[in-house]
Amino acid sequence: MLHDTIAAIATPPGEGGIGIVRISGPAAVEIAGRIFRPAGARDWRSGPGYRLYYGYVVDPASGETVDEVLLALMRAPRSYTREDVVEINGHGGIVPLRRILQLVLDSGARLAEPGEFTRRAFLNGRLDLAQAEAILDVIRARTGESLKVALGQLRGELSERIEALREALLRVLAEMEASIDFPDEEDVPETELAELARRLTGIADECAELLAGADAGRVYREGLGVVIVGKPNVGKSSLLNALLREARAIVTDIPGTTRDVIEETVNLRGIPLRLLDTAGLRETEDAVERIGVARTRNVVAAADLVLAVLDAASGLEAEDREVLALAAGKPLVVLINKIDLAPAGIDPDEIRRLVAGPVLRVAVREGRGLDKLEEVIADLVLGGQVAGRDPILISNVRHKNALERARRYTNEARAALTGGLPLEMAAIDVRNALDALGEITGATVGDDLLDRIFADFCIGK
Ligand code: GDP
Repeated sequence: MLHDTIAAIATPPGEGGIGIVRISGPAAVEIAGRIFRPAGARDWRSGPGYRLYYGYVVDPASGETVDEVLLALMRAPRSYTREDVVEINGHGGIVPLRRILQLVLDSGARLAEPGEFTRRAFLNGRLDLAQAEAILDVIRARTGESLKVALGQLRGELSERIEALREALLRVLAEMEASIDFPDEEDVPETELAELARRLTGIADECAELLAGADAGRVYREGLGVVIVGKPNVGKSSLLNALLREARAIVTDIPGTTRDVIEETVNLRGIPLRLLDTAGLRETEDAVERIGVARTRNVVAAADLVLAVLDAASGLEAEDREVLALAAGKPLVVLINKIDLAPAGIDPDEIRRLVAGPVLRVAVREGRGLDKLEEVIADLVLGGQVAGRDPILISNVRHKNALERARRYTNEARAALTGGLPLEMAAIDVRNALDALGEITGATVGDDLLDRIFADFCIGK
């Protein structure tokens, strides 16, 4: 329903300098007019958009003043939703904001659903779907780099690339259909088929190129799940603390669902590292085994990267081999710690024979080798991509899956063409590829998918 007017508190719950009640829809101005008393005599309702009006929110039933506010007026179509939008900037307390919202609802607005403002912006064509999703990524960005990726997507950089691919596919499809429509004509010449196949190859290659950055993109959006494993006393908690200190900016501190799973996010060269299962590592006084094997196995399975710590002073022990066996098969960095005590403690080559992945010699307590560790992690994430270049990164798994489908269908279309199958068969594949790309920008998208995407948003976004 785009004909009704929606409202919600757009600022986070709690106390703040200001809090905003946002209203959007055809009756936004009229509804705000019922409860807003401007301080000046001027009738703000006929005033221009992109203005702030100072005054009071007054309960029309009792005449009681509820808050002193600034009212921002944005007229359709130049607003977040492309509808008339009024934002009432009140004092950021729970009671005044709730009262303002209640008055707005009593005056004829409906409480907005999660993400409904952004959904309207999408439905009214102000943003495409990838851009709408980027808004949530901007809000949730964990590092400056994450923000950069999200802002690029919000500006439409990804959408432009996807649209260009769609147009290229549409042109191929149009030519195919032109040939299909004239079945009496002679067979399509080989040269024309070869040309279409060549263009399809180019499109599939471009999909592949975009997909190449998807792993790094996902890390910027979701963070890299890192777990530190090792037998007791190798220096795991020292490493954790060093990373927390080194990376200084702790951007989030998320208590997990159970008390003993704590996740902390640190900013490592712009890469958000989610340090998993740090609870055990924090209890340094606890002499009993801090992480059981079963637990370690689970955390390792969930991690994107394992840091396995060994103790140069103790040498490689049976327990270490178990730890390495647990981590084998995962992206892994092995740290031979305490080289200050035993510079020749464990031979890195011996480790390399056991597991794949970089082996670093460090002394965590002195901060030795941590730079190298950061470098290695950054390399792993960026997958050798040239730093400084500013590629468009696919950060959203939904986009990645759609793009993979588009590439597959494009390749199938080309195979059909070169394999001498009827043109109709290739055309079906091209249409499927178009649909897959359309899911990214929302050109082809169902209500259920929209429901799922916007359900992640908060009310007021
Ligand atoms: P965890 O049980 O694996 O979490 O190990 P801890 O981080 O609690 O460290 C165990 C002991 O090793 C502590 O006394 C640390 O100070 C010490 N330690 C950690 N890293 C180093 C290091 O690089 N060199 C030396 N000499 N000792 C270290």
